[in-house]
Amino acid sequence: MNRKDFIKISSILGLSSTSIPNAIFGGDSEDREFYASKNNGIFNPDLYRIRQLSTAIPGELPKQINVLKVADALRKASIVLKGGDPHRIITLARTAYQIQYPKGSIMLDSGMDLETHREFTGEDKYFYNDNFQEVNKALLKANMIIFSHYHADHVAGVVRSPHFDTLAPKTWASKSTADMMYLSPHKPSVNISQENVNKFIIGDFANYYPLAPGIVAFKAPGHTPDSKMFYLRLQNGKEFIHSIDSGWTMENIRNHQLKNAPWVIENADQLIAQYDWLNRLMESEKNITILCSHDNEQYEEFRRKKILGSSFV
Ligand SMILES: [Zn+2]
Repeated sequence: MNRKDFIKISSILGLSSTSIPNAIFGGDSEDREFYASKNNGIFNPDLYRIRQLSTAIPGELPKQINVLKVADALRKASIVLKGGDPHRIITLARTAYQIQYPKGSIMLDSGMDLETHREFTGEDKYFYNDNFQEVNKALLKANMIIFSHYHADHVAGVVRSPHFDTLAPKTWASKSTADMMYLSPHKPSVNISQENVNKFIIGDFANYYPLAPGIVAFKAPGHTPDSKMFYLRLQNGKEFIHSIDSGWTMENIRNHQLKNAPWVIENADQLIAQYDWLNRLMESEKNITILCSHDNEQYEEFRRKKILGSSFV
């Protein structure tokens, strides 16, 4: 999305970037204050409240989280990390996550098909069709599918599915994600009508939202205005914060290093505040593991160490 579109969409959604004048804000003064505080790069989700909400919906907690990647993108480190070495290549994994319950499953993001992969990389290389077929099966089986944000590598698995009409009624998108999907589709491949977006479960919420036992969505605008993070709690007591695309790799987060891709328009203040918060968590909350959608090293390591399951059920 270009800057003009970003500002247009941001204003439609009532969000802001630092360059948007206060005059465009709708809503009451409380809204303005809320967005202004986000705008100043304050990011301090209330973990006590989030933990409380993770058991607000009665039911058994998830047993484990499984992950599969459908594709890789190989990028220069100078694109992934501001100040990165242009001679170093970083592999970014395009993943989908399955949250496995004793009786059922929920998908967090939906992967993408080959056509969408081509739109990202211009080639068929590094697309893993076997894994994509596993993701498709898991999407069909899932009790619910959650979209983290409107980007094509997260939503195409549903939007472009031949089974769209089966998947859509169990797909949850926040109001801001739903709006962005039809007003400003991320890639031509995920163009979708408002009528089809309206088939999703569309949820509007202020800050935190309990989606299922052990799953809480919380707003984290920065990568995109509609970005969210997710708190996940397992039966064995293990906790995860899924940071989605706040950083493309854990290196972005650990080193407070922004991305440097010219095609990605992000709110730097908000992301730096998120990196601060995630680093504070890593220091003080040893029970919490931070997940990052595109970090291929984490993908390999967590599957090997069985922190994440390496196949879908
Ligand atoms: Zn992504």
